[in-house]
Amino acid sequence: MQVASVIVDVAAMQTDRAFDYLIPEKWTGLIQPGMRVIVPFGPRQIQGFVTELKQASDVKKLKSIVEPMDLLPVLNPELLELADWLTETTLCFKISAYQVMLPAAMKAKYDKVFRLRESSEGIEQETIQLFGGRKEIAWDEVESAGMLTRFRQEVKADRVELVYQVKSKGNKKTMRMIGSRRAKKELTALANEIPANAQKQKLVLAYISEQTKETISAKEIMEATGASNSTIKTLTDKGILFEEQQEIYRDPYEHANFRQTKPLDLTDQQAKAIEPIINTINKNTHDTFLLYGVTGSGKTEIYLQSIQRVLEKGKEAIVLVPEIALTPQMVNRFKGRFGDDVAVLHSGLSVGEKYDEWRKIQRKEVKVVVGARSAVFAPFENLGIIIIDEEHETSYKQEENPRYHAREAAIKRASHYSCPVILGSATPSLESFARAQKGVYQLLTLSKRMNDQALPDVNIIDMREELREGNRSMFSRTLFEKLEDRIAKGEQTVLFLNRRGHSSFVMCRDCGYVAGCPNCDISLTYHRHSHHMKCHYCGYEERVPNICPECQSEHIRYFGTGTQKVEEELGKLLPHARVVRMDVDTTSRKGSHEKLLRQFEEGKADILLGTQMIAKGLDFPNITLVGVLSADTMLHIPDFRSSEKTFQLLTQVSGRAGRHELSGEVVIQTYTPEHYSIQLAGKQNYDQFYEQEMMIRKMGNYPPFYYLALVTVSHEDVMTASSVTEKITQFIGSRISSQAIILGPVASPIPRINNRYRYQCLIKYKREPKLNEALKKVTEHYTKQYKDKSLQVAVDVNPFIMM
Ligand code: ADP
Ligand code: ZN
Ligand code: ZN
Repeated sequence: MQVASVIVDVAAMQTDRAFDYLIPEKWTGLIQPGMRVIVPFGPRQIQGFVTELKQASDVKKLKSIVEPMDLLPVLNPELLELADWLTETTLCFKISAYQVMLPAAMKAKYDKVFRLRESSEGIEQETIQLFGGRKEIAWDEVESAGMLTRFRQEVKADRVELVYQVKSKGNKKTMRMIGSRRAKKELTALANEIPANAQKQKLVLAYISEQTKETISAKEIMEATGASNSTIKTLTDKGILFEEQQEIYRDPYEHANFRQTKPLDLTDQQAKAIEPIINTINKNTHDTFLLYGVTGSGKTEIYLQSIQRVLEKGKEAIVLVPEIALTPQMVNRFKGRFGDDVAVLHSGLSVGEKYDEWRKIQRKEVKVVVGARSAVFAPFENLGIIIIDEEHETSYKQEENPRYHAREAAIKRASHYSCPVILGSATPSLESFARAQKGVYQLLTLSKRMNDQALPDVNIIDMREELREGNRSMFSRTLFEKLEDRIAKGEQTVLFLNRRGHSSFVMCRDCGYVAGCPNCDISLTYHRHSHHMKCHYCGYEERVPNICPECQSEHIRYFGTGTQKVEEELGKLLPHARVVRMDVDTTSRKGSHEKLLRQFEEGKADILLGTQMIAKGLDFPNITLVGVLSADTMLHIPDFRSSEKTFQLLTQVSGRAGRHELSGEVVIQTYTPEHYSIQLAGKQNYDQFYEQEMMIRKMGNYPPFYYLALVTVSHEDVMTASSVTEKITQFIGSRISSQAIILGPVASPIPRINNRYRYQCLIKYKREPKLNEALKKVTEHYTKQYKDKSLQVAVDVNPFIMM
C-alpha cells in the first residue's frame, strides 16, 4: 500500500495540514512529492500538492487519489522545503506558500494534452503509435491506454511534453506554419514542372526543399522569397504543401532589437568589487554581498560578469528588479549579453505568457531569469547566483499572504545551493547596511561614477519663500529658468512628481472641508476623467459636489498637483515645449510605457514628466536637468521609514541627471528644506544619512535595532475591535520576555476601512523564539471563534506598511 500526504487547495486554518490519500495501484511509482493531484474532499474534488509518500497511514478508511495533474513534480524538493520555511516565518498557510511559487495559470482549470517535441529522437515505437500522426493527444487517451508510465519516461527524456491548456480565452498564440510531406527530390522535380510565369511558386518550393525543419513559418517563407500569401495558398490547394497552426511562446520582447554586447573591461574599482563574488562562485560557497554603489557606478556590469561566470560553470542565475524598474532598457542589458538564455517575468505579462516563461525555466531552456519579486521562486535546480537590484525597494515585500520578503527568500535559496546573493543599491536599506557594518553581509563599494563624472549639482528650493515673494506657480523661479535654458539648448529635462501619499483631493476653499469616504477614514481621490471622487481602499465613488456640503460655498474644487495639471501648466508657460507624460493613466495600455520612453530617447520631447515610474533605470545621455516638484509629500506618511523612503527616492531621481558626457543639475522643491533627509539627499550623502537615521531608529526602538511584528484586528463594531486587540496584546505579552516592547491596543493610522474598525498591536523585539507560536495561537483562536470572519486578525512579521 502506498499513501500520499496531500496539502489541499483550501486556504483555511482547519485544512492547513496534510491529509492522507491512498495511491491507486496503477499510479504507484508515478505519483511523487511536489506533484499536484486531484483528491476527493468532502463532497468536492479539489486540487492538492503531494508532500510526502508513506507506506502506511494512521487513518483507517483512506480515500483514493482521483488522478494526478502532473507527470513530473512542479515543485522540487528544495522548493517544498522553502515552502515550509515560508510557512514558519510568515505564518501563512502551506497551500499559499505553494501557490505563490507557481504561475497563476496553474490554478486555473485546464485540459492536459501530450505533445510531441520537435526532436523526438529515441522515442518508443508504442508512443508514436498512440500519437498516430497527430501532434497532440489528450491525457485521458493516454491514461485509458494504460500508458501514463511510458509517457512519463518520454516527458522526462524531453521527447514528449505535457501541456496545460488553460481554458480561458486568448491564452494560446499560434503561428501559421508551412511544410511538405513529400521527399526533397520530389519537391525539386515538382518545382521544375511549374510554368515559368509562376516564378514565385518555384522559389517557395526551392526554399522549402532546402530546409531541414519539418515546418517553416509562412512569414519566414514570404520574407525569404518575396512570395505572397496567395502563392503559398495555391501550393497548399494543389496539395504540395500543408499548413498548420503551431503554438508559439508569446515573447513580449520579440520585436525589440537586442544589440549583442560584450563584457567591458572593468575599472579598478569594479575589479576589486567583483573579485570576492567570483571567488565565492568558484569555490561554491554561500555569501551575501551588499554592493553599495552610487547610480551610474557600474553595478549592472558587475551583475552581468558575475552571471557570466555562473553560466560558464553550467549554473543558473536569478535577477530581481523592482517592477517599475523592469523597463525595456533594463531587460535589454541582460538580453543583449545573454540573448535567448534569458526569460523575463513581470506583471505586464498575461497569465498565459507568464506560464510560458515559467515552462521555459522548468524545461531548462533558459539560464537567466530577470523578473520582479516572485521570480525569486524560479524553478531552477542548479542555482549559481541571485541578484537583487535596488534592494532597498519596498516592493520586494509582498503585502498579502504569504507576506514574504524576496531578500530573505533569496538568501534562503542561495544557502541551499551554496551560491552568492548580491544586493545592489545606491541607497541600501538601513537593515542591509547595518548587517554589512556588522559583517553579516560583505560590503562592496563603488564610490565613483563611470568616467569620474561628478554627481549633479543640487539646488534645494524653499517653496515657502517662493510664495512669500509672490510666486504662486508650481514652478520655482530657479526651476523655471533652468527649464527654459535647457529647451533653448536642446537638452532634456525630467520632471518628477511624487504622488505616493499625496493624491488630489477635493476641498472647500472657504471652510476647509475635505471630501472623505463615508466608509473609511480617508479622503477621496479626485479623478479627472470622470469628474468623480473615488476611495482607493473600498472603491466608493461619487460625483464632485457643486457646493460644499458643510458651508454651501461654491468654492469647492480639487487640490493637489497631478501630472495632468503639471502638463497643463507647462502648456501655458512653455507652449513650445514638447512634453511626454508618464503615469498610471498614460501607461496602462500594453507597450505604451516602452513607446513613450522611446519617444523621449529619440529626442522627440524636451520634458519627461512622471511619477515614481520614471525614478529608476532611465539612462539617457541628453538629460541634464532633473526637477522634483514637491519633495516632502512622503515625509508626512505615518511610518517610521518615511525619512528613509524620501531620501532614497530623491537620491534615485537626482541620479537620472548627467550620467554621460554632459553634466547635470537637480532642482528639489520643498516646503521643509531643513529636513535632514532632504538636505542629505541634496548632498547625495548616504553615509551621513545612515548615521543620522540610525540614531533616530535607535531612540525609537525601531529596525534595524528591533524586529517588528504587527497584528491588525478589524471588526464592524469598534468596541469588539479594540477589546479583542486588548486581549491579544495581553496574551502575547504573557508569552514573551520582558525585553520585548508591546504597543497596543491603538487605532491604526487608517482607523476605518470599508466600515470596519481597525486596531493594532505592535511588537518590537530582538530575540523571541516563542513569538511566532504565540502569534499562530492568536490567529488560530480567533478564526475558530469567528468562523463567519466578522472578525479578522492579520499578522505581519517585519511589516513594511504600518497603516
Ligand atoms: P549602475 O548600475 O551602478 O547604475 P551602470 O552599470 O548602469 O551603473 O553603469 C553606468 C554606465 O557606465 C553604463 O552606461 C555602462 O554601460 C557604463 N559602464 C559600466 N561599466 C563600465 C566599464 N567597465 N567600462 C566602460 N563603461 C562602463
Ligand atoms: Zn465649505
Ligand atoms: Zn472607502
